[in-house]
Amino acid sequence: MKAARTIGELRRLLQPFRTGSTIGLVPTMGAFHGGHIALFRAARATCDPVVASLFVNPTQFGDPADLAAYPRDEPRDVRIAEESGVDYLFAPSIDDMFPRGHATWIDVEGAALGLEGDFRPGHFRGVATVCLKLFTIVRPQVAFFGQKDVQQVAVIRQMVRDLNLELDIRVVPTVRDQDGLALSSRNVRLSAAERERALAIPRALGAGRAAYRLGRDAVAAARAALAGVEPDYVAIADFDGRPTLAIAARVGGTRLIDNIPLDER
Ligand code: AMP
Repeated sequence: MKAARTIGELRRLLQPFRTGSTIGLVPTMGAFHGGHIALFRAARATCDPVVASLFVNPTQFGDPADLAAYPRDEPRDVRIAEESGVDYLFAPSIDDMFPRGHATWIDVEGAALGLEGDFRPGHFRGVATVCLKLFTIVRPQVAFFGQKDVQQVAVIRQMVRDLNLELDIRVVPTVRDQDGLALSSRNVRLSAAERERALAIPRALGAGRAAYRLGRDAVAAARAALAGVEPDYVAIADFDGRPTLAIAARVGGTRLIDNIPLDER
């Protein structure tokens, strides 16, 4: 695996692959876990070369404290990426990605409205802008995203459609810990007691889906199962034609999101 620290360096490394190769891109913010590894492996199975980006994108954080506390462990990430079949790890600086004077933003409406869009104003603007920049820098044929961030997938698909990007978006199912909690870089910030409380989120998704199958109110069932965890929202939304139950909730100082497609077997 080779690491590139600048846009110029990565472009030089990818030059030999501009024709005849299928470049796969996995955009990430690092602090790798099994979810990231599943994306790397999915890319490895269908693409060559596999590029992963590691960039804690300041423009998608509304809360400076959340950005400052975001977990980072680059030496560990380098090891995991290498073991998971990544060929090129692109870890640019903030100055390289957003130099002084940067003034162009991608404002997706449609899929970006509601849910996370309501609770994290400006979040999807930062996500869409950094992803479009990564797409133009890497010029992948395929990009991989996780179902865990289902609205993010919808926003990226909206942008790909609206801007006629020649790019295939693939979605990898949510990877969970044995206890059901969706893997997330933010989970390391949970105390043992908070983690126990956070398990109410996957339980609530399960209760919601069970109710849905019985023709009952999935949102009410999920809310009832949240057991004192106060959600930002519990909602059913349509993502790519799939009814999906989505929850965002704060446990202690950590905000967690999770979702489950309701049509899943
Ligand atoms: P992040 O580094 O948190 O921005 O995530 C990078 C990519 O990994 C995004 O496409 C996420 O949706 C995906 N991802 C994060 N957690 C999981 C998970 N538990 N299962 C599958 N994909 C995930």
